Amino acid sequence: MTIKKRIVIWYTIWMTLLVVITFAVFFSLSGVMVERRAIRTLEEAVHDAADDIRVRDGRIRYDDIDFFDDGVYLSIWDETGLVGGRFPDDAPSSGVVEGRLQNLEGEYGSWYFLDIPIGEGFYLRGAERAYDIGSVFSSMQFVILILLPLLVILAALGGYLIVKRSFSPADKVIETAGDIANSDDLSKRIGLGNGNDEIHQMASAFDNMLERIENAFEKEKQFTSDASHELRTPISVILAQADYAAGHVAEQDKMEEALGVISRQAEKMSRLVSELLALARSDKGTLQVKRERFSLSELGDVVVSSMEDRAEKKGISLTLKTSSNIMVNADQEMIARVMINLLSNAIAYGKEGGFVLVRIGMKDGEAVISVEDNGIGIASEHLGRIWDRFYQVNPARTVDSSSGAGLGLPIVKEIIAAHGGKVSAESTLGQGSLFTVVFPSDE
Ligand code: ADP
Repeated sequence: MTIKKRIVIWYTIWMTLLVVITFAVFFSLSGVMVERRAIRTLEEAVHDAADDIRVRDGRIRYDDIDFFDDGVYLSIWDETGLVGGRFPDDAPSSGVVEGRLQNLEGEYGSWYFLDIPIGEGFYLRGAERAYDIGSVFSSMQFVILILLPLLVILAALGGYLIVKRSFSPADKVIETAGDIANSDDLSKRIGLGNGNDEIHQMASAFDNMLERIENAFEKEKQFTSDASHELRTPISVILAQADYAAGHVAEQDKMEEALGVISRQAEKMSRLVSELLALARSDKGTLQVKRERFSLSELGDVVVSSMEDRAEKKGISLTLKTSSNIMVNADQEMIARVMINLLSNAIAYGKEGGFVLVRIGMKDGEAVISVEDNGIGIASEHLGRIWDRFYQVNPARTVDSSSGAGLGLPIVKEIIAAHGGKVSAESTLGQGSLFTVVFPSDE
């Protein structure tokens, strides 16, 4: 059964019950009240009339008595029977019961009688028709049997239409989901527009989710295509060089040259594959941070020394500034990779004869590594994208075998994120860059 039907059935049942209960309570309460009023009227009428009647020497006198007023019949009786006043024909006959209210069933309904003595064996009797729920019910038959069910039906129908209208966007959601499933087209959206109800909110949450899935999917596709592209270049170079070498087997210098190129390209491929692997692990959440306590200053020293040759080739002065022996609890190999990546960029994009300054320190309980250069810098429109995978400001510049494939900074970012830290870059085109990583030193 659909939710629409369930809602309508549920509230129709409750509404019917509510109406029936309300009527029942209303009838019984009003019955009680009407009855009380009637009894009071009867008592008052009988006592008032009794005050006006005088009996002397077997004769009854009165001035101005209404023997039928406000539904009350007044009659005068003695032991022989009715002697005066008015007594209704359809009322039951009954003997005198002095002073006490009687409720008697007659042929056409029930009656109240009240008899009080007025002297010398005479009695004044008040008779009044009792409140009869059955007669009230039959007089309201039209309302109860026709109008009420009609109202319930109308309310159920109105409710159904409202529920149907409110649920109609849900059909759009179902339709879109079905379309996506059938066509694999993640660009479809429900697009219900603005609205505050739950279904609009659900639809917009659904659209947001689709947006994110589509983005993730596009990123994944882009990643695969970039990775294949990056691998294809060294492979073609290797194949071409192998061909070339095969044609010059006798010429040692050409062979050596070709083998050198092959070796560098193979190295590049190997680096690329291990970078891809690191990123894939990080995506899968299996990038394992093997924490150990080590001296960050010492690690900085080792990394900087290993880079000195490269810096020297470009005439770059490479300096390390570290405040004291900074101990951290982190993955030594990963942090070394971070420093290597940042330093090789600083040297690769540094100015001939310029400087690269590495600072290692602590700030607010966090380890800080910064690498500054006075090289080519990065224009502000590129600065936000350098952490994206395969992003290179100027790919043409970086085709030589020692450069990466635009994965160096993304790996730095993933490693630092895995350590619970943050990366940032400041740069001015033509003046230089400052890369900073910060991570908790004691986790
Ligand atoms: P790549 O392998 O190309 O160096 P990275 O992810 O390490 O890839 O860097 C992405 C891009 O950011 C680089 O192509 C380069 O354009 C820019 N970049 C990185 N570091 C620097 C730097 N120190 N100075 C200038 N540009 C830089």
